[in-house]
Amino acid sequence: MRLVLLGPPGAGKGTQAQALGELWGIPQVASGDLLRAVVRENSKLGREAASYMERGQLVPDELVLKLIAERLRKKDARGGFILDGFPRNVMQAERLAAGLERVGLKLDKVVAVIVPDEEIVKRISGRRTCEDCATMYHVVFEPPAKADVCDKCGGQLYQREDDAEQTVRERIKVYHAATQPLLEHYARLGLLAQVDGVGRPDEVEKRILAALDGLAALRQAGAGVGHARS
Ligand code: ADP
Repeated sequence: MRLVLLGPPGAGKGTQAQALGELWGIPQVASGDLLRAVVRENSKLGREAASYMERGQLVPDELVLKLIAERLRKKDARGGFILDGFPRNVMQAERLAAGLERVGLKLDKVVAVIVPDEEIVKRISGRRTCEDCATMYHVVFEPPAKADVCDKCGGQLYQREDDAEQTVRERIKVYHAATQPLLEHYARLGLLAQVDGVGRPDEVEKRILAALDGLAALRQAGAGVGHARS
């Protein structure tokens, strides 16, 4: 299964990508996580990326494309992957399609998780992430058993710097301007499914699986063949 999850910040793409990745035994590839890892290195490149992220702006395409290409070349992505946060504009989508085509592959489906803007701000302000394994929680909707500690690995939970309300509003603006046109792009290619992202994570997961229909079971059965062309 080669899947893209689209949607505004805070739509639950990360939560869903993680759950589906575990279900299908394929990696979740989150551009935001790859970028935050570069930022943590505190290199010149990392500081440059951070300056965009802190403002809620998109990081330059070339950097993101390089990180994604490196990640998708790793062995664990051979049987499929779930992209979360990438592509974020039409240019990134075209480069992704071209890169996959060069190795005889293509996307199976793009699922857009739809959540209204007001709901997003409410969700993001309570969001907490594990420093070690990147599992996400919400202080009200999905709290960990022990405050600020990850249920899965015992890591410390933190609030992302770009989750401050003003930055969230900017990220929503950028989503509407740069990323939303991708819905039409993928609809034209016949790849798009839209699901309602409001509700409990398990409910949203069911909707995604329903939208994928027979595709998921089919792809899962074929996942073991590794390089098989689709
Ligand atoms: P969210 O989807 O909640 O905004 P992400 O972790 O996906 O969170 O992204 C955080 C930030 O990382 C974005 O606001 C942006 O600055 C940067 N970023 C992530 N993915 C991309 C991308 N594909 N292209 C450009 N910038 C990106």
